[in-house]
Amino acid sequence: MNIPKIVLKSGKDQSVRRLHPWVFSGAIKKIYGIPSEGGIVNVYDNKDEFLGTGHYQDGTIAIRILSFKEETIDFNFWNKRINNAYNYRKNLNIINSNTNVYRLIHAEGDELPGLIIDIYYDTAVIQCHSLGMYQNIETFADILKNIFSDNLKAIYLKSQSTLPSKYKIENADRYIFGKSNENIVLENNLKFNINWEEGQKTGFFIDQRDNRLLLSKYCKNKDVLNVFGYTGGFSVYAVHGGANIVHSVDSSKKAIELTDKNIELNFGKIDNHKSFSVDAFDFLQEIENKYDVIILDPPAFAKHNDVIHNALQGYKRLNAQAISQIKPGGILFTFSCSQVVSPEMFRRSVFAASANTGRSVKILHQLSQPLDHPINIYHPESEYLKGLVVHVE
Ligand code: SAH
Repeated sequence: MNIPKIVLKSGKDQSVRRLHPWVFSGAIKKIYGIPSEGGIVNVYDNKDEFLGTGHYQDGTIAIRILSFKEETIDFNFWNKRINNAYNYRKNLNIINSNTNVYRLIHAEGDELPGLIIDIYYDTAVIQCHSLGMYQNIETFADILKNIFSDNLKAIYLKSQSTLPSKYKIENADRYIFGKSNENIVLENNLKFNINWEEGQKTGFFIDQRDNRLLLSKYCKNKDVLNVFGYTGGFSVYAVHGGANIVHSVDSSKKAIELTDKNIELNFGKIDNHKSFSVDAFDFLQEIENKYDVIILDPPAFAKHNDVIHNALQGYKRLNAQAISQIKPGGILFTFSCSQVVSPEMFRRSVFAASANTGRSVKILHQLSQPLDHPINIYHPESEYLKGLVVHVE
C-alpha cells in the first residue's frame, strides 16, 4: 500500500522535530498521493527527511502524529501503546482496590492523539476525537478484551459529540461489546453512580479525584459550598471529610438529581447536605460570610484562543465573588479546565480577583490533573486542568 506523503514548508518542521504531535494545515507545502480522511500519511520536511507517521483529517489540525519513527501502524502498534498506558497506571498504583474508575488512555498524554478511553469498573468508554481513531475502534475493542478478559463486561462508544459533525457519522454512541448492569464505581472508596450514556464527558469528571481527596482534608466542621457540582463529587468528599453543612449548586436539574443520589448512596438520608438547581452567578450574589470552604469548578470558559480574554474576565469575576464573600480564614478551591488558558493566565486572573477585594490571600496549593491524565512534556496543551487552593484572611 502506498502511503500518501506530506511535505512541510521550510521552518514548519520545528514543532514536529520537538515531538509535538500536531501538524496544522497551514504548515503543509505539498501532498503526494491522495490521503483519505482518517487515513495514515507520512510527514517529511522540505528536504525530504522523514519526520513522522500520523492520521490525516481535513481540518485545522491536519495531521495527528502517531509515531516519530518509521513504523507500521498496525495491530501490534496499537497493542503496544495501549498496553504501555495500562502498565504505566498499574505501576503507579492508580488501579487498586479503592478506585476502579480511571482514565486508561489520555490522548496525546499517552501518545495516542485523538483517543480517550475511560474505565468504569467493568465498562470501558471509548471517546474518539478524530476520524482516524474512530476507524480503529474494533481493534481497540479487541485489545481491551485481551487486557481485561473477564473483568470487562461492556465497551460503550461515545463519540457522537466529539467527532467533527461534517462527517455525519451516525450511531457513534452505542455499545460495541456487551452491556453491564453495574453502574456504581468506587473512587477512593467512595461510591458514585455513573451514567456514561447520558452524562457529560464520558460520564464522570475523573480528573478531579486527587483534588477531591485534598478537599476532604479541609472540611472538618466547616460549612462548605460546592459550585458547579455536577454529580456532586466534591460534595461527597466534603461530607466524608466531616463537614458541618454542604451545599451543592448546579444549573442542571439532572446534575442535582445525580448529586442527591450519590450523597444518599454513600451516607443514606442526611440533613446536612442540600442541593440547589440554580445559576451559579445568581447564587453567588448572596453568600456573604456563609461559607468556610468554597469550590468553584466551572465548565471551560474558553474553547478557542480568540475568546481567552472573555474567559479570563469570567474567571476573575467568579473568583472575586467568592473571595470577597468567604468567611475570614476561609479556603477557596478554584479551577479552570480550559485547555487554552495556561496555569499562569489562570493564576493571574485569581490574582486580579483577589486584588479587587483587597483581602489577604495566600496560595496553599497549585493543583493539576491526576497521574492517569498524563501531561506529555512535548504537548503542553495536554495540561488542561489547573487549580489553586487559597486561604483568605
Ligand atoms: N465539579 C464537577 C464538574 C463540574 S462540570 C465534578 O467534580 O464532577 C461543570 C458543571 O457546571 C456542569 O455540571 C454544568 O451543568 C454546570 N454549569 C454550567 N454553567 C452553570 C451556571 N451558570 N450555573 C450553575 N451551574 C452551571
